[in-house]
Amino acid sequence: MVAPNPGPYTGPGTNTWIVEAGPVVAVIDPGPDDEVHLAAINQRIGAATVGVVLVTHSHPDHLPLAARLAAAHHASVRRYPELGDEDVVRVGTLNVTALHTPGHSADHLCFWLAEDRALFTGDLILGRGSSMVTYPEGDVAAYLRSLDRVAELRPRLLFPGHWDPVEDAMAKIEEYRAHRLEREAQVLAEVRRGGGTAQELTRRVYGALDEQLLVAAEMTMRAHLRKLVDDAAVRSTGDGERETYDAPV
Ligand SMILES: [Zn+2]
Repeated sequence: MVAPNPGPYTGPGTNTWIVEAGPVVAVIDPGPDDEVHLAAINQRIGAATVGVVLVTHSHPDHLPLAARLAAAHHASVRRYPELGDEDVVRVGTLNVTALHTPGHSADHLCFWLAEDRALFTGDLILGRGSSMVTYPEGDVAAYLRSLDRVAELRPRLLFPGHWDPVEDAMAKIEEYRAHRLEREAQVLAEVRRGGGTAQELTRRVYGALDEQLLVAAEMTMRAHLRKLVDDAAVRSTGDGERETYDAPV
């Protein structure tokens, strides 16, 4: 089910997944605290019992409705860090494995149904476009490791936090990996062309963007710069607003 919160960062809205597991269901990512969405979820669940409410991460388009939905069904909310890497949640006939997959956010989990080779990807991988990995919360190095981690499972199907399910799972994971590395190469090339602050580099790479998009672009740039500095591919000097980046000689 799609929550009624469409927007530039949520696509058509947040996906709330209802997974049937015999007489009970698991609900993944209830979404924003919205009366209409809550009523729609309850209608869809009908007489079934909610065994558990799982949340991929604590962003406001995924988590807020979880507590109310769970309370109404006497179910528990399970999410990171209480639910850790490789913890298995048994619900009805299903075993759901939590995978800690940081990068988009530090508290991000994917949920793996090994028998179906199906992966609920939250905001690690979306059905369309690219995932936000932005400073200070996003971590590009962790994000790339998380993509490698889920690729190793060789999933067949992806059920993302936004947009449609993905049937060619491995191609989509590779697309996301390639996109992120392409971004990194673009940032590195710009720094090598000449140093500057994160804001200057952003304006050079993206040109004229409206103010809101430019802020998001700068936060993406900063996340990439942090990884490149950690990798010693880029050098940073100064701090705060005047922190500048250049290529080591
Ligand atoms: Zn998110």
